[in-house]
Amino acid sequence: MTLAHTTLETAQIRELNAAFETAQPTEILAWAAATFGDGLAVTSSFGDPVLAHLAWSTVPGIEVSLIDTQYLFAETIWYAKHLAERTGGNLRILTPASDVGRDDLWVRDTDLCCGIRKVAPLEHMLANRTSWLTGLRRDDGPTRAQTPIVFHDVLRDVIKVNPIANWSDADVASYVLDNDLPPHPLVDRGYTSIGCWPCTAPAADPNDKRAGRWAGQSKTECGLHGGPTVK
Ligand code: SF4
Repeated sequence: MTLAHTTLETAQIRELNAAFETAQPTEILAWAAATFGDGLAVTSSFGDPVLAHLAWSTVPGIEVSLIDTQYLFAETIWYAKHLAERTGGNLRILTPASDVGRDDLWVRDTDLCCGIRKVAPLEHMLANRTSWLTGLRRDDGPTRAQTPIVFHDVLRDVIKVNPIANWSDADVASYVLDNDLPPHPLVDRGYTSIGCWPCTAPAADPNDKRAGRWAGQSKTECGLHGGPTVK
């Protein structure tokens, strides 16, 4: 059974946010799974293992999706499969539409490229879902510093849930250590945020982990996150 987003009023979302600031991510995940049922979609970019491991450990059988733009680092695909195998997790790999082939659009129009390769596959999946759970964190960088734990993503008309929004980098490091999880293979090479290879470099700014994404451009997000919200 699923719960349509319209049953979560703005006041309820506010109450949930207040309560969830001090809740464990596992409690938030369990709430989301119980509340939205089959309507819940979980995505991870697999730059680190935390969100996928939390989801797979908390909700047995839950599907965690990776959007393969066709331009991901080979290491990312390998890493996602490795983590799923190691944890017994259910991994789904989303791909662009069948008529999208390899091209050089990322050289000429990164917004359009992200739209076709990232946003469209996500929105195709979300079309019949009521909630979308992600690993966004306020510590990811300045553009994500205000990330709420729960809000209405107006654009996709789903309730977006970010169970580790208030986790610090130290919280992530502790979780990884406590659960003996391997890092993404590119972390040792200076990549602190990992997307597609044409648009990702090691971060030059130590205060902004996402500084290596679309470096030299004004673009800071691929279009999956951001947009109008109600919280
Ligand atoms: S991050 Fe770059 S290569 Fe990947 S979808 Fe966006 S523009 Fe295309």
